[in-house]
Amino acid sequence: MADRRKSSKKNKKLNSKISTIITCLIVFVLIFVGITLATDSKPTDSPVKTPETEQTTEKTFEENSTKAPESSTNETTSSTVTVEPSTNNSVVIKPEPTKPDTTKKPVSTGSFYDSVKYRSPDAVPADIFKHGRTLMLLNRQYELPENFKWDLVYWANGNSVDAMYLNCEEHNSVKAVDRAAYQPLKNMFADAEKAGVPLQLVSAYRSIYLQDKLFTRSVNSYISQGYSESEAINKANYSRTFSGTSEHNTGLGFDILERGKFTLSTSFENSAQFRWLMENAENYGFILRYAKDKTNETGIMYEPWHFRYVGVEHAKEINRLGLCLEEYIEYLEA
Ligand SMILES: [Zn+2]
Repeated sequence: MADRRKSSKKNKKLNSKISTIITCLIVFVLIFVGITLATDSKPTDSPVKTPETEQTTEKTFEENSTKAPESSTNETTSSTVTVEPSTNNSVVIKPEPTKPDTTKKPVSTGSFYDSVKYRSPDAVPADIFKHGRTLMLLNRQYELPENFKWDLVYWANGNSVDAMYLNCEEHNSVKAVDRAAYQPLKNMFADAEKAGVPLQLVSAYRSIYLQDKLFTRSVNSYISQGYSESEAINKANYSRTFSGTSEHNTGLGFDILERGKFTLSTSFENSAQFRWLMENAENYGFILRYAKDKTNETGIMYEPWHFRYVGVEHAKEINRLGLCLEEYIEYLEA
């Protein structure tokens, strides 16, 4: 009897222990669910923000990549809206925690700017073709739109190019130029040769990727000289423009020197070739783009070697008025 009483006492104790454990478990589960719900309903912040000084480069890129075409911005907004009502119905929990996160990320546009490190922070959306394709204005404020289509023709010092030899070492002088500028450039080079001032095409079309590589190299070189990153970026842009704002990115801008010379130097202004170009380039539709007395207007250093194709009519008018391209576009719009 005593044993039975003992064991029933034991059972009672055990039962109460079990029920305590179960109660504890229930309380624990309830607390856990509560915590989970509380964290879920918190607004999901964008990834950890780092101090601006540390991440200037990244920030430049981020700011620009959010400047996506309007259509994709709208897509982002509308998908955020469709997600939010279900989050408000927090009683019915549909745990899809990754969904709200992805809608907050900038949509990848598949644009040629996606992998560009340095993009102009001052670029504004604009119709740069409103005065015609060959009169497009590119500078710190105006960059190539993401839907830009290249129309390039191969060039080997004015000779036609056999595709078979493209990229061969012997043919490394092969360049690409915009189709509209091809024949005028060819005529100008032929006539310069006849006039006894043979020319060299040093640089023509340059891809956005190469531009970014060169720009980055330039920024890094200024940083290694002790400049801050923002100072380095501004200095780099004075001679190497941001990707998408260089005329070389279109195939309408050309660096031209004396035949056989490849080093760009302001001493080119003392050559017979430069004098010939200053007198004759407009007859083929080319202007000196970055003149000595227009550095404030263009934001670019004096480049006696850089010529831009705008077409004969505009080239003559620009020279007659004594304007740079920036001023000429303003003049057309006044
Ligand atoms: Zn140039």
